[in-house]
Amino acid sequence: MSQKLSNSEKLYRQAQKVLSGGVSRNTVFRQPYPNYANTASGCYITDIEGTVRTDFANNMAALIHGHSFPPIVDAVISQLKKGTAYTLASEIELSFAKHLIKRVQSFERIRFVNSGTEAVMAMIKASRAYTGRAKIAKAEGSYHGTYDFAEVSQTANPSNWGNIDNPSSVPLAHGTPPCVSNDVVIYPYNDVERTLAILDKQAADIACVIIDPVPHRVGMVPGNQEFVEAVYNWTRENGALMVFDEVITFRVKYGGAQENYKVSPDLTSLGKIIGGGFPVGAVAGREEVMKVFDPHEKNLLLPHSGTFSANPITMTAGYTAMQYFDKKAVTKLNRITDGAIGQIREVIKLLDIPVSITGAGSMFRMHLRPTPPNTYREAYENQEVKKLINELLDYMYYKENILMINTFSCMLSTVMTQKEIDQLTEGLYRAFKALK
Ligand code: PLP
Repeated sequence: MSQKLSNSEKLYRQAQKVLSGGVSRNTVFRQPYPNYANTASGCYITDIEGTVRTDFANNMAALIHGHSFPPIVDAVISQLKKGTAYTLASEIELSFAKHLIKRVQSFERIRFVNSGTEAVMAMIKASRAYTGRAKIAKAEGSYHGTYDFAEVSQTANPSNWGNIDNPSSVPLAHGTPPCVSNDVVIYPYNDVERTLAILDKQAADIACVIIDPVPHRVGMVPGNQEFVEAVYNWTRENGALMVFDEVITFRVKYGGAQENYKVSPDLTSLGKIIGGGFPVGAVAGREEVMKVFDPHEKNLLLPHSGTFSANPITMTAGYTAMQYFDKKAVTKLNRITDGAIGQIREVIKLLDIPVSITGAGSMFRMHLRPTPPNTYREAYENQEVKKLINELLDYMYYKENILMINTFSCMLSTVMTQKEIDQLTEGLYRAFKALK
């Protein structure tokens, strides 16, 4: 007798025949096959088996108001009837640009693109065009999307990360041209002394230093003030740009995580929440630097286009999402998240387990270590720890009906209430207890 397959497994068997590996993004995997979504609304997502789960992943941090937020749905439906893509410029793109520029002190000009990857790529190319230099500096282990240069060192591990005084510039994909790693300088996040020494060695060639103010894969460790200021001062003294990747962290404060620092980045990449649930990216920053994109300049330094850039559907959804994510909404969401972290800390104390929490604003990550990590190497999880985290994630998913991000992280949305926080906390209590 043949074994009865779940609906997801049936779809996955077909998918393996048409999609490479059966999926289009590796992050949707749950072992041994992906679970397929059917519908989603508010804080809840329903799979094709009919199971409803509370969604603390929010499409990898992109849905600041949860799923199908009614004001976004209404605005998008009305825009759909007016056309979906124009070739021409649109007024909604202008309105949204004005909104973002008003919102963040360091934004003077902006360009929209279609993903965070594209935004980071445009930011790197703009830095190179402006400075005439080739090298970029990025933090060991940091994730900035899938542009070759931004991928370097993304999966740094003890077998390849090298000496901390000179971390290795390891390309991610097989076949990456060697020139890519030659032009990427790796610095250890939050380590002022070593970072400045590393940057000094290549000072004349560095176009930009990329900082993610709360880098998810570096342990979601907030950049400390001293570190960010030291790097900023270094860029001022050495003719390089300081650029922030705020693709995830824009949710942290009304004006992005950069509000937390006394520095003003030259450029910032954006994505995720500014699309209101649709594919988006943007690069914004100082007028003088952003001029590299300007076709009216006598020497156009960086030709830039994109069939779907500033697509009117995305602009409508994003503008609506950001209008509803006003100062009051940001404060309320961050307060709810602080409450959730407080409750989880109580659970950790009650069970007396070595778990710590990092994060900022409406995002946090749990670590299976007693004290929060401060650097990538401290946050690094070996196979044994990763296995345990996967077991915890599976427990939360299958037994508690809670979807979290695969780094054992949560990204909250404005539609969450104490009910969902209590469900998360109680679920974690049982998961930790079961696997203690
Ligand atoms: N930069 C950061 C900090 C990110 O977290 C991500 C995605 O997770 C990206 C860039 C790439 O964005 P996208 O997946 O939209 O290409």
